[in-house]
Amino acid sequence: MTLRLHDTATRSTRDFVPLQPGRASIYVCGATVQSAPHIGHIRSGVSFDVLQRWLLASGYEVTFVRNVTDIDDKILAKAVEEGRPWWAVAAHYERAFAEAYRILGCLPPTIEPRATGHVPAMIVLMRRLIDAGHAYGSDGDVYFDVASFPEYGALSGQRIADMQPAEDADPNARKRDPRDFALWKGSKPGEPGWETPWGVGRPGWHLECSAMAGEYLGSSFDIHGGGLDLIFPHHENEIAQSRAVGDGFAQYWLHNAWVTTAGEKMSKSLGNSLLVTEVVKRVRPVELRFYLAGAHYRSAMEFSDEALADAAAGYRRLEGFIRRAVERLGDAGAVAQLPEAFVAAMDDDLGVPAALAVLHEAVSEGNRMLADPTSADAGLLTVLASVRRMLGVLGVDPLDPQWSQEGGSDAAHAALDVLVTELLADRQAARAARDFTSADTIRDELKSAGILIEDTPAGPRWSLEGA
Ligand SMILES: [Zn+2]
Repeated sequence: MTLRLHDTATRSTRDFVPLQPGRASIYVCGATVQSAPHIGHIRSGVSFDVLQRWLLASGYEVTFVRNVTDIDDKILAKAVEEGRPWWAVAAHYERAFAEAYRILGCLPPTIEPRATGHVPAMIVLMRRLIDAGHAYGSDGDVYFDVASFPEYGALSGQRIADMQPAEDADPNARKRDPRDFALWKGSKPGEPGWETPWGVGRPGWHLECSAMAGEYLGSSFDIHGGGLDLIFPHHENEIAQSRAVGDGFAQYWLHNAWVTTAGEKMSKSLGNSLLVTEVVKRVRPVELRFYLAGAHYRSAMEFSDEALADAAAGYRRLEGFIRRAVERLGDAGAVAQLPEAFVAAMDDDLGVPAALAVLHEAVSEGNRMLADPTSADAGLLTVLASVRRMLGVLGVDPLDPQWSQEGGSDAAHAALDVLVTELLADRQAARAARDFTSADTIRDELKSAGILIEDTPAGPRWSLEGA
């Protein structure tokens, strides 16, 4: 069985053949740190975390680079709006993203380079592009000469002749052709800048990714990832910058689809309700991860609270099996072979939905064993280990310390969960009997003990105040 990946550049699903046997090098475009992450942002993080975990599970040694765009027009605008320095804005939101990746269980990248730390590499790349006749300086700016690179447009399936002016075009642009894009922008008064042979300025977004990918992964590497919206112009421009100087650049291009609301890409107009920090008040982080990882990475996800609650309830069923099985057998660990059908699903362009079907089938079998007092422990143990291994590959094994210690120490949390769950059941019973006084008393008692109750579509959830 070979891993096959859908490559946007060739519009085909093809065997993954790494440049170096046994090693996989990945560059993923990270956040432009100008606002707090919503679940659309973090879907990209989770999608490529599943890729990384699957490569690791398949025995690859993985180098994973995910950059931070910490200088950008939007960051400068936000700094004005918030009345603080641009670097304070960037640092603040970089931490917000780091925290979101962490609470969703994304493995840390091998390195997370910041654009502002790589200006020398960008200067070298601009010098190479200018020397090769693919770029030109113009009154403090530096532009890529799109017409000099006939392959331009291949990734996004466009012909240069049909192209509209580049999005960054401003009326004062000093470019020769409206389709040329900025590699470097001369600083306006009051803007930050770095000294270069072409004047004081700041990096264009596209240039920084080519420079940082080259810095850490060399002139050629295996996989470049990012959201679907980055194909054009961002990734098209990265290809132009790197290939024009003879670098091989990425061998495979992977793009994750959006989280949509009402069919549209998630936007700021939705307010704060879909910020990661808000959503994890409605479901646990592991449930949000399960929801985001559960769809195929190339399928659009139409967000709804119902779909999120369904995913959370589905996860709790899997979790319930594991907890009951562990109660009977003790913690058996997760060392098991992955089922062939699971491997085949994941090898088929990371087919998580098909992999989850294998997982659900195993859990159904395990539940049958649990219900049957005559079933042998050995069979249950095999199922338990296999289920945990599969969940581990997706980064959602409930017994992984990342999740089992949510909200405090494992044992204390588990003990509290038993007590609170019992009280919540009493409260539900009181409500069902229309005895609202008793139901409210239970809620108040929990509250006075610092335990908050929230009624969600998937049932009541408790959390520790201030946790
Ligand atoms: Zn990029």
